[in-house]
Amino acid sequence: MAHQINMDPCKCPMPSQEPQVRNHNFDEVALGYTAEMAVSEAKRCLNCKNKPCQTGCPVGIDIPAFIGKVAEEDFEGAYQVLSASSALPAVCGRVCPQENQCEGKCVRGIKGESVGIGRLERFVADWHREHVTDTPVKPQPNGYKVAIIGAGPSGLTAAGDLAKLGYAVTIYEALHLAGGVLVYGIPEFRLPKAIVQQEIDGLKALGVDIETNMVIGKVLTIDELMGEYGFEAVYIASGAGLPRFMGIPGESLKGVYSANEYLTRINLMKAYQPGSKTPIMHSHKVAVVGGGNVAMDAARCAKRLGAEEVYIVYRRGMEELPARKEEVEHAQEEGIIFKTLTNPVEVLGDEDGRVRGMACIEMELGEPDASGRRRPVEKPDSRFELEVDTMIMSIGTSPNPLIRSTTPGLETNRHGCIVTNGDDGLTSREGVYAGGDAVTGAATVILAMGAGKQAAAAIHAYIQNK
Ligand SMILES: Cc1cc2nc3c(=O)[nH]c(=O)nc-3n(C[C@H](O)[C@H](O)[C@H](O)COP(=O)(O)OP(=O)(O)OC[C@H]3O[C@@H](n4cnc5c(N)ncnc54)[C@H](O)[C@@H]3O)c2cc1C
Repeated sequence: MAHQINMDPCKCPMPSQEPQVRNHNFDEVALGYTAEMAVSEAKRCLNCKNKPCQTGCPVGIDIPAFIGKVAEEDFEGAYQVLSASSALPAVCGRVCPQENQCEGKCVRGIKGESVGIGRLERFVADWHREHVTDTPVKPQPNGYKVAIIGAGPSGLTAAGDLAKLGYAVTIYEALHLAGGVLVYGIPEFRLPKAIVQQEIDGLKALGVDIETNMVIGKVLTIDELMGEYGFEAVYIASGAGLPRFMGIPGESLKGVYSANEYLTRINLMKAYQPGSKTPIMHSHKVAVVGGGNVAMDAARCAKRLGAEEVYIVYRRGMEELPARKEEVEHAQEEGIIFKTLTNPVEVLGDEDGRVRGMACIEMELGEPDASGRRRPVEKPDSRFELEVDTMIMSIGTSPNPLIRSTTPGLETNRHGCIVTNGDDGLTSREGVYAGGDAVTGAATVILAMGAGKQAAAAIHAYIQNK
């Protein structure tokens, strides 16, 4: 049904907790649209014929169609459109970098702000969760078995698609809880764990079996899965959880964490809850080295745990920060101090072997490098010291070597990522597919999900043609 276009150049603002309140708690920062707000925002969509927003979505959601349903107040209809392409809309509506994807292509963004596609996706997924309690019908088994390694967004997406086709799917997950980075990395205040759990429960209801505490490469190998365990195909979705360090002096001092360890203690092991037995430093001055989403999450967690001063230390400028714009803005509002154009060169310790500070060098931006971003170069004679008691390294991760070292014939590249044919995730081993961060290195939830979808379709074709 045609509706009157809302010509407001700005997005309907997202109701949120006040910065000085939320930086003391772990409750969700953004509170979500009301139905009225969602309908009004949906009416900003021009319903473009060529759907540029859809081309910006790695899983190809029919965005104008779902937004059209919201404008008509048919929220369940909108959910059906979303869920036809995305297995985790409540997650993606919260964490996708929409400004570089769908919203980056929105025509309304040319003369004003793009339509709030992510906010609408979140509204629709939350509305469905709160109002519809249908149990999925278990598909007819087709008699074939597929194993998936890793219960992050990529593995979960592939599992859902394969289960719907009738495959008996078993996910082997190394940790005691399914969800991957969605539960061990991204904090509760950005992505409540109950939402991830509900998505996982939906998969279980479809018949997906999730075996936790199963480290593939230690407990079982891929050869065993495809041999005595009788799986026709395997999808490796084991992520990129191995943290990198800078290799500067002092990184083994007490008080230096990798962002992964810091966030895992806080999120998965619930160190943020009063009375938790998980040890975590209660720091006063914290430096987080890096400028991505992971760095923002670590800094905002440190603030919430009570640190008085929290720095983001990043060697390029504010413009080059790779984190989502919204996360940077939220971090600034919450009092995180950005020390850009700054590079640490040494962690300084006291006589007890604890961090007491870091030595840094000021940087300036030179010519663009291979990534297209201006290369940071050291300013001469600019060394200075920053007093901190905790340092959190957040300069990237790579895939854990366990799977590649226990799977003969599995080709990997010099970064340790699994090599695939690039089309559908097939690796150098017959029947073995891979996708998500294990293939691309640390990337995004939606790309990991897209890879899971693609691999599920390829595995289906492979098994049916065998
Ligand atoms: C703190 C943080 C914040 C982020 N924020 C965002 C964001 O805002 N937006 C966004 O789009 N992306 C974000 N990302 C990136 C995003 O989360 C990842 O790109 C995505 O989770 C990758 O999905 P995956 O399924 O490939 O891997 P993962 O989510 O890493 O899941 C892999 C799973 O495999 C398991 N596993 C590993 N090895 C084995 C083994 N040998 N046997 C069995 N299981 C194994 C792991 O325990 C894990 O559960 C963030 C990442 C982090 C760390």
